Amino acid sequence: MSSQHQIPSYLTPTETGPWSVYLEQIDRVTPYLGHLSRWVETLKRPKRILIVDVPIERDDGTISHFEGYRVQHNTSRGPGKGGVRFHQDVTLSEVMALSAWMTIKNSAVNVPYGGAKGGIRVDPKTLSRGELMRMTRRYTSEIGIIIGPDKDIPAPDVNTNEQTMAWMMDTYSMNEGRTATGVVTGKPISLGGSLGRREATGRGVFVVGSEAAAKRGLSVPGAKIAVQGFGNVGGIAARLFSEAGAKIVAVQDHGGTIFHSNGLDVNKLLAHVAEKGSVAGFDGVEAVLPNEEFWAVNCDIMIPAALEQQITAKNANQIRASIILEGANGPTTPEADDILRDKGVLVVPDVIANAGGVTVSYFEWVQDFSSYFWTEDEINQRLTRIMREAFSSVWQVTEDKKVSLRTAAFIIGCSRVLQAREVRGLYP
Ligand code: GLU
Repeated sequence: MSSQHQIPSYLTPTETGPWSVYLEQIDRVTPYLGHLSRWVETLKRPKRILIVDVPIERDDGTISHFEGYRVQHNTSRGPGKGGVRFHQDVTLSEVMALSAWMTIKNSAVNVPYGGAKGGIRVDPKTLSRGELMRMTRRYTSEIGIIIGPDKDIPAPDVNTNEQTMAWMMDTYSMNEGRTATGVVTGKPISLGGSLGRREATGRGVFVVGSEAAAKRGLSVPGAKIAVQGFGNVGGIAARLFSEAGAKIVAVQDHGGTIFHSNGLDVNKLLAHVAEKGSVAGFDGVEAVLPNEEFWAVNCDIMIPAALEQQITAKNANQIRASIILEGANGPTTPEADDILRDKGVLVVPDVIANAGGVTVSYFEWVQDFSSYFWTEDEINQRLTRIMREAFSSVWQVTEDKKVSLRTAAFIIGCSRVLQAREVRGLYP
């Protein structure tokens, strides 16, 4: 066999990918599912996986091919729903896990969706704007056979944004021969996007984090917070916490780790990152830390808001925070969960902590269907109410069953999905 062939990443799977983290989480919840555990195998297999080749013509006339994925993990409670990620480390295992976490998340906050996720294995920084648009359009066309406003509704995720959603909506609409705004959420306001959607994930992290702090007797004004990832989730959460009087003492992103014991100026840092692309070079710092020292920073709340498998058995012991708010999907491994539990750290799991984004995506989709748009206040109020109710139900289960917040959220999420599965019955 010639070695010049590039073997696609889905033929060289790693055993320890995010999918195995998810499977371990399902094993941990299974004893609490009662008679519904008969159906649990449903959750261990994605309903449908589509792998597509995404070829584009580069600006220099050459042709590049990218791996594209859309996984529909479950549609028992409604159409598939979940973001699309552009990242050089995207793998099938990752997209499978992310789609499954969407199933649990959508169910845990009780929005009427199943779970899905998509991605392209690409570093979007290496593409021009035209190349990015052609790649997005070709990908959308390829997955067009399984998405749609009542089938599966993509949204932004890591390295995708309102512009990506506008191209996806346009491509799907051109192929369908009609304008279908409801096929994606996270669109620009001018295309049927929702007020408050861009900030929604970060706002949800803030709302749930404030509830968790209250349970722990921690006052948000004056609390010290460390944030990993300063994009649409970490950046907004940091801004809202700092407006509420908390101090953002450390921020880590792909450019490095910055620290200020009195709190970084979040608005200045947001402006810096918008201009320079990372926290590197920000001048309002007390120190620039080696990356591995981020985990040992003296803080009350830690917000991992970047990628999966960041808090592991290797660094969990160093963590000094009393609360972890998972802005990212899957940032904590099961081994790290155990270490943190033994240390008495409260981990507010991704499927609740970052569910604000998909909750306002749901509002956007409803507004598109009815062609009637709500005010930003209405959206933020409804978001806050849903997030508080979801947190309080999960807290109740934690107390009743003496389990972690993650297992409690999974008990609620999995039970709703499996109840739907059971009452629908198997076809044929
Ligand atoms: N990508 C976001 C998430 O992981 C939002 C998904 C959506 O709005 O559909 O929850």
